Amino acid sequence: MKKKRLLISLVILIIGGGFFWLWLYSNYSPPIFMYHAFDKEKVGTYASVSPETFSKQMAFIRKRGYKVIPLRELCALLKGKKEIPHNLVVITADDGYKDNLKAIEILDEFGYPAIIFLVVNKIGEEDYLNREDIRWFLENTNVSIGSHTLNHAYLPETDKQNLKTEIRNSKVDLEKMFSLSVDVIAYPVGGFDNRVLEEVENAGYLCACATNRGFSSDLDIFALRRIKITERDLGIRLWAKLSGFYNIFRKVKNPY
Ligand SMILES: [Zn+2]
Repeated sequence: MKKKRLLISLVILIIGGGFFWLWLYSNYSPPIFMYHAFDKEKVGTYASVSPETFSKQMAFIRKRGYKVIPLRELCALLKGKKEIPHNLVVITADDGYKDNLKAIEILDEFGYPAIIFLVVNKIGEEDYLNREDIRWFLENTNVSIGSHTLNHAYLPETDKQNLKTEIRNSKVDLEKMFSLSVDVIAYPVGGFDNRVLEEVENAGYLCACATNRGFSSDLDIFALRRIKITERDLGIRLWAKLSGFYNIFRKVKNPY
């Protein structure tokens, strides 16, 4: 009798575990890492990660066998609705701070691609990347650029005309400035609404990044959820964020 009960428990456990694994597997989403500043002095504020820690994080990614791909490549994979390998990671950084140059050097050592989302009207201001910096990394590394609007506008509170300008003109201005196509945007503070989604798609963007915000936890190509990476993310914490299952266990925040 005891043996029979044990056997039944074991079978339930195996079937349950199998279903759990299937559920986990079908909810996989490739991790998109979100950084801002790379300055040791600013750790704790500005969502900053020190260059030393960033370097360790990149080494961890390599050691664990993950493949860093450009955001636009991930967007194409998601659009193609093909089976997505479970070892991918994308690296993004918002705002275009000058200290990103340190991170770009590290990325270059590893040969990793990344994307920096630039606030067009901040380019060349104090503490921000200038045109020469940007031209340098576009020509010499695998780091590309995307729009983070003209003025870091909180889009859900932006009126119709300005919304159009922030979304479209930022794209066009960057394209003219650096003679390339800009097809990805990241929403400042992750904020968006239905008007934003429509405008972004009409402006010709391939995909767009939010933070951990969305209308639902479904994968939305114009509101890709990103995972904030901090100074403390090493070892098991970083591994969890890399796994592709991190988003399943956190609640998506309201988009606006
Ligand atoms: Zn920002």
